[in-house]
Amino acid sequence: MTNQANLLAFDEALSRLLTAAYPTHASETLSLTEADGRILAADVHAPISVPGFDNSAMDGYALHIADFNSPPTHFPVTQRIAAGQSGEALPLGEAARIFTGAPIPAGCNAVVPQEDVQVREDGIALTTPVRPGQHIRRIGEDIAVGSVILAAGRRLTPQDIALAASVGHATLDCHRRLRVALLCTGDELARPGEPLPPGGIYNSNAYSIAALVRRLGCDIADLGRVADTRDATVAALRQAAQSHDVVITCGGVSVGEEDHVKAAVAELGQLDLWRIAMKPGKPLAFGKIMDADFIGLPGNPVSAFLTFCLLARPFLLKRQGATVAHPERLAVSAGFERLRADNRREFLRAQLTVDTQGALTAIPHVNQGSAVMSGLSWADGLIDVAAGETIQLGQLVQYLPLSALIN
Ligand code: AMP
Ligand code: MG
Repeated sequence: MTNQANLLAFDEALSRLLTAAYPTHASETLSLTEADGRILAADVHAPISVPGFDNSAMDGYALHIADFNSPPTHFPVTQRIAAGQSGEALPLGEAARIFTGAPIPAGCNAVVPQEDVQVREDGIALTTPVRPGQHIRRIGEDIAVGSVILAAGRRLTPQDIALAASVGHATLDCHRRLRVALLCTGDELARPGEPLPPGGIYNSNAYSIAALVRRLGCDIADLGRVADTRDATVAALRQAAQSHDVVITCGGVSVGEEDHVKAAVAELGQLDLWRIAMKPGKPLAFGKIMDADFIGLPGNPVSAFLTFCLLARPFLLKRQGATVAHPERLAVSAGFERLRADNRREFLRAQLTVDTQGALTAIPHVNQGSAVMSGLSWADGLIDVAAGETIQLGQLVQYLPLSALIN
């Protein structure tokens, strides 16, 4: 039976991590092509309006229409304006052939789509009522000059970069990448590609954690395996801390005699070891080694992965200067029941399906063991079950898509 009193609530652990995450100030100027996925170091303003001038939203005819649609309904066509050209002021009663994106000439207040006119030898005749202002994209209606288009702390998406390009920025100031070192503890660990000795297992955490860190826009140095001795652990941690902003370890944070991370970090810096009321997971070490931040993930592969996604990830994001948002969650129907509550908050590996009524339904994997990588790979999300909660079939449960946690 777990002793509840010694467990730290998940939200409290997250809040302590975020409080301790000091955003880096160092920034660098990047070209638009380099900036995808990086974190903005300063607000981005629009030096121009978009659109930069009133322009046509359609291929058609620009003309002046009175407020009350009265004759003439027939307009001679006296100009032709394509995108990239500019026309001349148009006398009342005349029309200009105009194309999408072309500037509206002075004197016009509407664009009539070409489908809505009859083309005659001597001009056009309107076939439907025309509203003043129709089909004109107004100057600044998308972006007003001087406005903030992207806020500092934002992780740049392809859409954001296109937005910056649309106002003419060729470069963006972004926070520099955090340098993260990864060490996996355990005498039993072998590298994929090497023969497996008796009692050995392949090191899978090195690959999951390195890929997750890289996806956050950090530089990652995989420093390999550390033997389960105090001296080896101290030496490896000291070296890692010298040239990295953050040191992450996997394993060795339980309380067995083969777990040396705790003592090694305590010797080199400062350490908190938390037993978090979460499943999978539980042990998480956090502290400092010289100037570097330290995070000690549990060794079990699913625990390491989810502890990273749910706790280390927001820490690294804030540490890199990003604005940290709660992960996206959906309320979906439970495709299972759970009659006995657990005293820890549980993140069940699950898939979303659609039931016969069309409702999104979450189905947990049959094996929720903290070392079961096949279940984690199968899952597309997590069902977040609060401590003490029982679940009836069909009730609403909270679902966290993994896609939002691994990017
Ligand atoms: P530990 O926290 O060191 O006691 O490890 C807990 C469990 O996770 C043990 O079964 C370890 O063999 C396993 N484990 C630790 N590190 C890794 C790793 N890098 N890759 C895969 N499994 C690991
Ligand atoms: Mg170990």
